[in-house]
Amino acid sequence: MTVGPLRTCIGCRHVQPKGLLLRLVRASDGRVVVDERGRAQGRGAYVCRTAECMQRALRAGRLGHAFKRPSEPPVSGTVVILDGLVLHDKARR
Ligand SMILES: [Zn+2]
Repeated sequence: MTVGPLRTCIGCRHVQPKGLLLRLVRASDGRVVVDERGRAQGRGAYVCRTAECMQRALRAGRLGHAFKRPSEPPVSGTVVILDGLVLHDKARR
């Protein structure tokens, strides 16, 4: 069994299989967006699909560190992202 690529969550800093993490991408204007399909252009950062990690990761300082440039959290904010993930998870079942 192969584990596949591993990435570090920028919230808790634990290393996880890439498939378990949510990918964030920094757009050219500095705004960070959620990359649902994991294929958007740009530098990516990864975060666990949990409220705790998401809230830690989406602080501007943490994003800036992860992307090595000033970065703004997603416009929609953590709550909307998490709501979206919950909805997606429900839809999959
Ligand atoms: Zn995490």
